[in-house]
Amino acid sequence: MWVTPLIERKRDHGALRPDEWRELVLEYAAGRVPDYQMAALLMAVFLNGIEPAELVALAGAMLDSGERLRLDHLGIPLADKHSTGGVGDKISLVLAPLVASCGVGVPMIAGRGLGHTGGTLDKLEAIPGFRTTLTVAEVQRQMELIGCVMIGQSEEIAPADRRLYALRDATGTVAQIPLIAASIMSKKLAEGIGALVLDVKRGSGALLPGLEDGVSLARTMIALGEEHGCRTVALLSAMDRPLGRACGNALEVEEAIATLAGEGPPDVLDLTMALGVDMLVAAGAAGDAAAARAQLAEGLSSGAALEKLRSIIVAQGGHPGVVDDPAVLPQADAVAVYAAPRAGTVISVEPATLGRAIIAMGGGRRTVADAVDPAVGFVVTARPGDRLERGEPVASIYARDAAGLRIGTAALERAITIADGEAAAPLPLVSHRVTGSGVQQLAPVG
Ligand code: URA
Repeated sequence: MWVTPLIERKRDHGALRPDEWRELVLEYAAGRVPDYQMAALLMAVFLNGIEPAELVALAGAMLDSGERLRLDHLGIPLADKHSTGGVGDKISLVLAPLVASCGVGVPMIAGRGLGHTGGTLDKLEAIPGFRTTLTVAEVQRQMELIGCVMIGQSEEIAPADRRLYALRDATGTVAQIPLIAASIMSKKLAEGIGALVLDVKRGSGALLPGLEDGVSLARTMIALGEEHGCRTVALLSAMDRPLGRACGNALEVEEAIATLAGEGPPDVLDLTMALGVDMLVAAGAAGDAAAARAQLAEGLSSGAALEKLRSIIVAQGGHPGVVDDPAVLPQADAVAVYAAPRAGTVISVEPATLGRAIIAMGGGRRTVADAVDPAVGFVVTARPGDRLERGEPVASIYARDAAGLRIGTAALERAITIADGEAAAPLPLVSHRVTGSGVQQLAPVG
């Protein structure tokens, strides 16, 4: 395929026809278009945008690049959730087994770290032995036995997103509405689900920080979902501070397990419940929000959700002991406590600064080929609004070595602002609900 004229047309603000998008995406997924040409085209799209009809063609071609899961024979409702990406966002690890424990099938295709945000696959791979690449046949079998899988894009499933996702991460072409929407929706629609709940992050640590962009991204994805017959709902949630306390792959697995065991941070639990309620209602597994909430609460308190996670881990080759003993997870060689350098109020805890530091400490990728150190990261106990004395512990740093600890300390100095006076009100944890019929404000806009 001759790609140069297409790159030139996008560079010059033109549009590609649907058949051109299709051929380009399918040829790229098959390895017949080189990364350098696709990177140039992505940058042209990033800078100049694409028309709505181009987006439909791009997302459709990405979806058709691989197989669609066929799970209707299971006879249960099928639903999933996807987040637009955050720091400390381990919700999928809690929510997927929880919703599956309520009788809804969750065939989750997740992503890796993207930009400064973490990824569910990298977190799962912190569990020794856990396999995130399964064949379609293995997915079918696991869904029949357990009702939940958590996998990544592969040569069979969403292969175009697999390659484009990694390429965007390494070429500064992540934070754009059509590219995010096509990436997320092509994966999710390949799952063959009937209901999807999107967690669209807003705030300084989101890929798209602004409220208007968040709403627009939500609407774009909802339109793609509905076009393919998938009931799609979006919640806008806060990413102006890290979600929970743990940031970093193994640390987040530990916090997710603690949440399933009833010992997690309140914001992780509250967001899990909010998304879970919409998943159960959209899937038709609960008649209303109150019934959904009761089912989810029972899944947690009975231990069924934690047992579901254990079954998923065992089925995908992970170390079964991890659910009972977090020491099974990779441990950092160097750990240090970061103390408040002065007395005062925590004004902000900047998620993007922490996310970038985790990458610099080896816990994320700078290039497609980078290996990820699962053990590194932070546990940040200080929250905006907390009053601190000088010397009070506010965070722990988990690093590979002394150099990593220095990177972590410098990042915390920049990320955590302590000053006199009051902190501005943080964004509401969940501020808006977006559906095909409109935007509902759930809390005062921060
Ligand atoms: N999550 C995805 O799967 N893709 C994006 O582009 C952003 C978040």
